[in-house]
Amino acid sequence: MKLLSVIVPCYNEQDNIFDFYDELMKNEAFFKEKDVEIELIFVNDGSKDETAKRVRNLHDRDERVHLIDFSRNFGKEAGMYAGLKRAKGDYVVVMDCDLQDPPALLPEMYKYIVDEGYDSVATRRVDRKGEPPIRSFFARQFYKLINKMSNAEIIDGARDYRLMTRQFVDSILSLEEYNRFSKGIFGWVGFNTKWLEFENIERKKGETKWSFWKLFLYALDGIVAFSTAPLAMASVFGVLFCFLAFIFIIFIVVRQLTVGDPNNTVGWASTICIISLVSGVQLFCLGIVGQYLSKAYLEVKKRPMYIVKEEL
Ligand code: UDP
Ligand code: MG
Repeated sequence: MKLLSVIVPCYNEQDNIFDFYDELMKNEAFFKEKDVEIELIFVNDGSKDETAKRVRNLHDRDERVHLIDFSRNFGKEAGMYAGLKRAKGDYVVVMDCDLQDPPALLPEMYKYIVDEGYDSVATRRVDRKGEPPIRSFFARQFYKLINKMSNAEIIDGARDYRLMTRQFVDSILSLEEYNRFSKGIFGWVGFNTKWLEFENIERKKGETKWSFWKLFLYALDGIVAFSTAPLAMASVFGVLFCFLAFIFIIFIVVRQLTVGDPNNTVGWASTICIISLVSGVQLFCLGIVGQYLSKAYLEVKKRPMYIVKEEL
C-alpha cells in the first residue's frame, strides 16, 4: 500500500473547501485500484473566514483530512513548506484550493511517475486567459529576465501544482532557507521533471490573493533569491563610471595645457548633470546591495517560517 499526500495551502477559501474536496475525491477509485491511499493536508494560512471550521468539519467526516492551522497569515510559501514537512506520502502533490489546478490531471501525473520513472510531474498553463493584460506582460518580462540572470530553470506559466516522489520532496525540504521562492527551488534541485500543459482555468469562487504590487515584490524576492547578477551589475556600473571619469580627466587636463579654458563658468550645467546622474546610479547600486543585505539579515535571524496554532 502506497500513500499519496495532497497539500492544499488555503487563505480565505471558505467557499472552495468542499468543492475542492469533492472534486479531488473523484480520483479516489483510480487510486484505490492502484493500491494508493490518499491523505489530504489543508494548511490554513491565517484565514479570516470559516476556512478552518470547514476543514475541521471535513476532518470529522473523513479521517484522511488533516489541518495545519497557522497563527496568522505567513504566505503561500510557508504553507507549502509546512505541508511538505508534515506529508508522509510516497508521492506528494501541492495544489491550490480554488480548483485552478485541476485534480482531474492527477491520474495522468501519477502514471508519468510510476510508469515512466519521472521524479516529478509539473504543470504549466499555456495561456493567461482571464488575467489583466498588464499583469501578463510584466509576468512574461519577469520570466525572461530571471532566466537570463539565474541558472535555476524557472518556467513561464509554471504553477506550483506538482506531483513529486518522496526523494524529490526530501531534497526540497533540505533547502531550509527563510526566503523561499518555490518556483526556483523546484528547478534548482534538479531531477527529471515531466511538464504537462493545460489551459488556464479561472478561479471558481473567491478572489485572487495576489495584487499587482504583491506580485511585483514576489518577483523581486525571486530575483534576489536565485541570482546575484544585480550585484555584478552594480560593480559593472562602478567600473564604467570610473572609466568615464578617467576619460574626462584626461580631456580636461589636455585641454587646459593646450588651448586652455577662456571662460571659467563654462561646464556648470554639465557638471550638475553628471553629479546627479552619478549619485543616482550610486544610490541605485546601494539599494541593490541593501536588498541582498536585508535578505541575509532575515536568514541569520533564523526565525521560524511559520507558527502552528493547531494541528489535526
Ligand atoms: N494562499 C495562501 N496564502 C496566501 C495567499 C494564497 O495559502 O497568503 C493560497 C490560496 O488560498 C490558494 C493558493 O495559495 O489556494 C493560490 O492563491 P491564489 O489563487 O490567490 O493565486 P493565483 O491563482 O491567483 O495566482
Ligand atoms: Mg488561484
